[in-house]
Amino acid sequence: MLLLGGTGEARRLALALTEAGGFDVVYSLAGRVREPRVPPSCRVRIGGFGGPAGLAEQLRSERIDAVVDATHPFAARMSASAATAAAATGVPLLVLRRPGWTAQPGDDWRRVPSLPTLTDLIDRFVPPRRGTAADPCPRVFLTTGRSDLALFAGLHRPWFLARCVEAPTGALPPRLEVILDRGPFDVAGETALLRRYAIDVLVTKDSGGAMTAAKLTAARALGLPVIMVDRPPPPAGFPVVSDIAPATHWLTALATCRNAAAGASSGAVTA
Ligand code: NAP
Repeated sequence: MLLLGGTGEARRLALALTEAGGFDVVYSLAGRVREPRVPPSCRVRIGGFGGPAGLAEQLRSERIDAVVDATHPFAARMSASAATAAAATGVPLLVLRRPGWTAQPGDDWRRVPSLPTLTDLIDRFVPPRRGTAADPCPRVFLTTGRSDLALFAGLHRPWFLARCVEAPTGALPPRLEVILDRGPFDVAGETALLRRYAIDVLVTKDSGGAMTAAKLTAARALGLPVIMVDRPPPPAGFPVVSDIAPATHWLTALATCRNAAAGASSGAVTA
């Protein structure tokens, strides 16, 4: 099977399949991170496939029986490509997406439908607590990832703190400080960070999951607003699960059907 990775769920699924036994897993990464966390037990391939046609070609040439798309909820191009290639080749595709975050009492979230709709909102944002002070420029904590920083390059008023796994390249906002770090993060650390940089507003994608959720708890405790970017919908027409267990179950059921069909066509009886 081909496991499109890049998330903690993908790694956990790879480990679960190794434990279950009987699966030959190819773990695929885009190659964005210099030292990726990869599961120890599978073959790893790195780099794009060359769009849906390239992926379809790989599915055929590698004789892949099933694809699990366990990429990040915002990796929309890869997900669309997997859906197109699966439809073209008839290879079963399962989408594994962790649930998004849900606001709790005390949260002040403003949802936006996509990243590009964010820039105008941030440019106009007036910090509630410092709006009448001498410097009304918002201090914005961006946790949307380095590849999205170019979107804010034209904004001269806000001051940005961006946290990324790898150093950003390309166009960047003029008033920017970057910290390099990768989760998991805890509430005490996130609260201290928001305080140290006197952050007025937190900007995040609705990635979901526990690894990076502490910033939301910290923002709630400090009474800070959060601008939450909605995730794109998963590709239509394919099963979607939100956890490892149903994904393992789906793959096991598929393998059972396949083995039964192979046994029936050869006339063999297997245990
Ligand atoms: P994307 O925009 O959907 O993908 C862009 C291109 O990168 C895809 O068309 C594909 O190239 C290649 N690609 C992406 N994921 C791949 C994979 N697992 N294996 C092989 N090729 C892959 O996605 P992205 O936002 O660049 O994210 C890239 C990777 O980083 C994903 O695996 C994702 O899980 C992870 N990630 C993304 C985010 C995020 O916020 N977007 C955050 C954390 C981690 P071809 O068209 O040439 O096949």
